[in-house]
Amino acid sequence: MKFCGLQKTTLLDYPGHVAATVFTGGCNFRCPFCHNSDLIQPKVFMLEDEILTFLRKRSRILEGVCITGGEPTLQSGLKEFIMAVKDMGLEVKLDTNGYRPDVLAELCSERLVDYVAMDIKSSRENYAKACGLVHLDLDKIEESVELLKAGDTAYEFRTTVVKGLHEKEDFPAIGKWLEGCSAYYLQAFKDSEQVPNHYFETPSKLEMQLYAKYVKPYVPHVKLRGID
Ligand code: SF4
Repeated sequence: MKFCGLQKTTLLDYPGHVAATVFTGGCNFRCPFCHNSDLIQPKVFMLEDEILTFLRKRSRILEGVCITGGEPTLQSGLKEFIMAVKDMGLEVKLDTNGYRPDVLAELCSERLVDYVAMDIKSSRENYAKACGLVHLDLDKIEESVELLKAGDTAYEFRTTVVKGLHEKEDFPAIGKWLEGCSAYYLQAFKDSEQVPNHYFETPSKLEMQLYAKYVKPYVPHVKLRGID
């Protein structure tokens, strides 16, 4: 398995854990607001051995590893990598766009992941636009949503709210869709050099609070993340 980056320590990426974050390359989505677009067609790689050696050295200090991308479920060696990490006594958080429900189901059923953070890019109606695919198979997303809701792996759903992409109508629709889920976060988009298009804006705190209010009747524990 090849990696595109390593953040040696983070307190943010795996809530409640001192963690390292590893970045995988490649993605099956083309979100126009992607904040990691350099990882979609990466040119620089780190070897798995290099990453595992680092994690082994730090396994007494670290509590967990966050695996993010790109889209980690595209990696053929993901399961073996996770098994090696778990052998070190570390917990594993997986960030995913949910477009490979078969991989997610296997990792959850074999208890290889301790926490899953799955992106909900938009309402069903606007999903294809938000993930940049002309031919989106929404059933795959639905399948991942349902398997997380029905399973016993800790999880969260999360939406990066993008001004210029999302409409207020998306949020009650997302709320209805995710009704009954255990955790849902709204996080505000922030522009950066990595974002492929610079015509999107950060929603205001008031807008974020309003969107959370639209979701709340269906998901009482909706929370805002990264809002001052
Ligand atoms: S799923 Fe994530 S990595 Fe892939 S294009 Fe969208 S934002 Fe970027």
